[in-house]
Amino acid sequence: MKWKDVETPVRIEMLGTGSAFAKQYDNNNALVTINGFRLLVDCGVTAPRVLYQMNIEYPEIDGILITHLHADHVGGLEEIALKMKYVHHQKPVLFITKPLAEQLWQYTLRGGMENPAEQLFSLDDFFEIRYLEEGVAAELYPGLTAELIRTEHIVGKLSYSILFNSKLFYSSDTLFNPELLLHMYEARGCKYILHDCQLYDPPAVHCTLSQLLTLPEELQQIIWLYHYGDVKDQFIGKTGAMRFMEQRVPYHFP
Ligand SMILES: [Zn+2]
Ligand SMILES: [Zn+2]
Repeated sequence: MKWKDVETPVRIEMLGTGSAFAKQYDNNNALVTINGFRLLVDCGVTAPRVLYQMNIEYPEIDGILITHLHADHVGGLEEIALKMKYVHHQKPVLFITKPLAEQLWQYTLRGGMENPAEQLFSLDDFFEIRYLEEGVAAELYPGLTAELIRTEHIVGKLSYSILFNSKLFYSSDTLFNPELLLHMYEARGCKYILHDCQLYDPPAVHCTLSQLLTLPEELQQIIWLYHYGDVKDQFIGKTGAMRFMEQRVPYHFP
């Protein structure tokens, strides 16, 4: 039997559901689990502490997928990679596109990690890199595919949303793109949309709640909201047919 014949639920537990400036909530990173495989989607500054609080050791993470280079999405990578190298003597598996990998090393990690004395000069000295191709669904593990979809977050900079198992769209950080969301729902048969949500207008680099509220109710019904600010509780009951995701609560998406 192929995995497509088996509807294994995708389990998603957000390490955090906060915006980049939130203090009540941790960075918007997700732990995706299927068939025992644990994928960390983004690894922000708060990720190492949250994993510690969740009692998860770094070697128990089977892979890390990176959507873009903001610190709330990559700021925890140095600590994890260094501890994996010097304490656990392992390389974390990193799922990433090639252009983003080059920028991740040159602009984010190289300053703290390059070490000529130990002949450590590149990203693959620290990570087991599995390159993903933009727009191509790749099997990360039996039962889990991921397709990276280029989205606009900071104009001119690389950023991706992810389509898991052809049914769950994970926006990561993006500007409002109703055409893409409708395309995912109508043409791609997407059953779940997990979307970043800035609570106040105007939109700058994120989609705002008022923009999402312009979507048809039918579409809102499959949308879960994350990446919100500390005032989130004031917006309970004001999100139309959309629901807030809570951090450190497991959700099962069949
Ligand atoms: Zn973010
Ligand atoms: Zn961002």
